[in-house]
Amino acid sequence: MTTIAHYINNAAVAGTSGREQPVFNPATGTSEKTVALASTSEVDAVVAAAKAAWPKWSKTPALRRARILDKFKNILWERGDQLAEVISAEHGKTHDDALGEVTRGLEVVEFAVGAPHLLKGDFSENVGSGVDSHNIRQSLGVCAGITPFNFPCMVPMWMFPVALATGNTFILKPSERDPSASLLIAEWLTEAGLPEGVFNVVQGDKEAVDALLHNPDVKAISFVGSTPIAKYIYETGIANGKRVQALGGAKNHMVIMPDADLDMAASALMGAAYGSAGERCMAISVAVPVTDQVADALIAKLVPQIEALKVGPAADRTSEMGPLVTEQHMNKVKGYITSGEEQGAKVVIDGRGFQQDKQGYENGYYVGGTLLDNVTEDMTCYKEEIFGPVLSVVRKNSYQEAVDLIHGHEYANGTAIFTRDGDVARNFSQDIEVGMVGVNVPIPVPMAFHSFGGWKASIFGDHHMHGMEGVRFYTRIKTTTTRWPSGMRSDPEFVMPTLG
Ligand code: NAD
Repeated sequence: MTTIAHYINNAAVAGTSGREQPVFNPATGTSEKTVALASTSEVDAVVAAAKAAWPKWSKTPALRRARILDKFKNILWERGDQLAEVISAEHGKTHDDALGEVTRGLEVVEFAVGAPHLLKGDFSENVGSGVDSHNIRQSLGVCAGITPFNFPCMVPMWMFPVALATGNTFILKPSERDPSASLLIAEWLTEAGLPEGVFNVVQGDKEAVDALLHNPDVKAISFVGSTPIAKYIYETGIANGKRVQALGGAKNHMVIMPDADLDMAASALMGAAYGSAGERCMAISVAVPVTDQVADALIAKLVPQIEALKVGPAADRTSEMGPLVTEQHMNKVKGYITSGEEQGAKVVIDGRGFQQDKQGYENGYYVGGTLLDNVTEDMTCYKEEIFGPVLSVVRKNSYQEAVDLIHGHEYANGTAIFTRDGDVARNFSQDIEVGMVGVNVPIPVPMAFHSFGGWKASIFGDHHMHGMEGVRFYTRIKTTTTRWPSGMRSDPEFVMPTLG
């Protein structure tokens, strides 16, 4: 048994709390590692290290900070495979999928390397007679990121590259279910030349999170995870005077209009519903074919493809979908399928009985691709986020019914429409109350130089992540108004200054 450690001041540090929990390999169902769970005092020590590093780091020229991130980016390009293997071993996703998340994370590093440009201020001359004014954006101090299990590399990289580039120091509290990727990232940042204390990792559970939420030296918290915890983080964080962005859960609908290219829509649904075993916040979990005719034709195209899905471990590079992250999560997903069946949905393809027959992987946490038809709004499997390889079909008879369905759901992370009609597509993207919209694109994850985030119960706080929203979140604006002595008046002024 090895114990996965914290990472402070550019070195791995063993936990001292006496608390730890096992980390599983979901492909085999075995555990050979544990992860340390930090106590409040251990978290406070990490915050102190990050606080001590901030004054120097914040005053380091942005170009120099960017050059360190640029070296880190090159390491990611060269050794992405190694990181992908670490991700797959604890998350279970296929190697190519893990490599995909490394690349999407790397793209945020590429964006952050533009820090000198991103931090350029504004200047106005003669805002009054002989008076100039300029804005700059300055870092906040110690920022923390609390991240979910489903993207152990990409989601932290939505946060820390921008936080570091803009002059903050950072503490990452990764998911305790797949914590190893964070240590490799920390080692590579050290190798790239990041000074001590600028990027730190604290492993842990609720106790560590609460310690971050209550430590007054943590100035901002970025969170990604489930909605109940996102709401808790937001409310507790702001009550403690912090800046908070907290992204939550999702239930993403894809509307398939009668004029859509059905082959294209079916193939898009396969990747969007079953890729990463449905453990993506941007997975499409609800297909909304408009008219029964479209529904029947779509299902006829999906069934053979779902039956042919290659479900297996990442070690088999031909696998298209891996296991779920834990046994508990596997059972929860199966429970949703059962509840759907009990509440009247038709189980067209049932993944509950899937048995992995590859030697050594028989006890992994696999659920086969599942298709539920005739799902309705009142069913638990519709209302709640399943986060597994389960696609629900909710049949609707018109565009407006489809839109109303989406608007009736509490989550509003992503959505998509498949159609050949530009007018319908334009109306949809303009009117739909969802944060990220795809037109004939099933998973519309914004690129690094745009920003990622949903609406409604999929987000708490004002700022989306990365892109300019990230720069704004991790900086505060300062406006300086300047007058030089030649313009100074000898007497004090008691009336409100005006343009003059
Ligand atoms: P989770 O909410 O269980 O955990 C997320 C983080 O919160 C982890 O670091 C965990 O240690 C911590 N945490 C868990 N319980 C806590 C508690 N009671 N108090 C304080 N901290 C706690 O989420 P997860 O299961 O790891 O990830 C899956 C969820 O994340 C899904 O709901 C998914 O939709 C969501 N997600 C959302 C986005 C997005 O951008 N909106 C992206 C990825 C994942």
